[in-house]
Amino acid sequence: MNIILFGPPAAGKGTQAKTLVENHGLVQLSTGDMLRAAVASGSELGERVKQIMDRGDLVSDDIVIALIEDRIESSPDAAGFIYDGFPRTVPQAEALDAALTKRDMGIDSVIRLKVDDAALMERIKTRFAEQGRKDDNPDSFKVRLDNYNEQTAPLLPYYAAQGKLAEVDGMRAIEDVSAQIADVLDMVTNAAAC
Ligand code: AMP
Repeated sequence: MNIILFGPPAAGKGTQAKTLVENHGLVQLSTGDMLRAAVASGSELGERVKQIMDRGDLVSDDIVIALIEDRIESSPDAAGFIYDGFPRTVPQAEALDAALTKRDMGIDSVIRLKVDDAALMERIKTRFAEQGRKDDNPDSFKVRLDNYNEQTAPLLPYYAAQGKLAEVDGMRAIEDVSAQIADVLDMVTNAAAC
């Protein structure tokens, strides 16, 4: 099963992905986590992306597509993947479709977490206080939100046209959001069984 968790920064994608890993045995593929690990390790890739990430801009498509393809390739026994923070542009979505098609797979569902901008800003403030992520400051966050609206939101019609888009209310409590996502996955599984 291949599920995309879709939404703006701080919508709760990472939190919900972790629940799906625990309850459904799926593998979480978070390009943000992979890139942060590269930065922390001081690798050449980390050096290349650090400033881009700090100011809230998007890393180039080539880099993130290669990271994802590598992970898919190196997990042949996975029950499925949850894409968290990927794809973020139309070329990334097309590359993902191509990589999955090559392996006789496809995206099963794109689950959009809907959260309003004011709530996102509050969450970012809390996360910055708790985790100190550099790009959770108000200036970088504004850039990230603009990038989401300009480059990532156009993926919604792309997936809607494929009949794969499901929307959940991401303003609700974490457990309620998890329950809504579980309902979507049940529907996807039942539809696949018919
Ligand atoms: P995230 O943890 O998903 O919010 O990602 C943190 C940062 O990593 C983003 O603001 C981008 O700079 C970079 N990043 C993560 N995923 C992608 C992606 N799919 N495409 C481009 N840049 C990304």
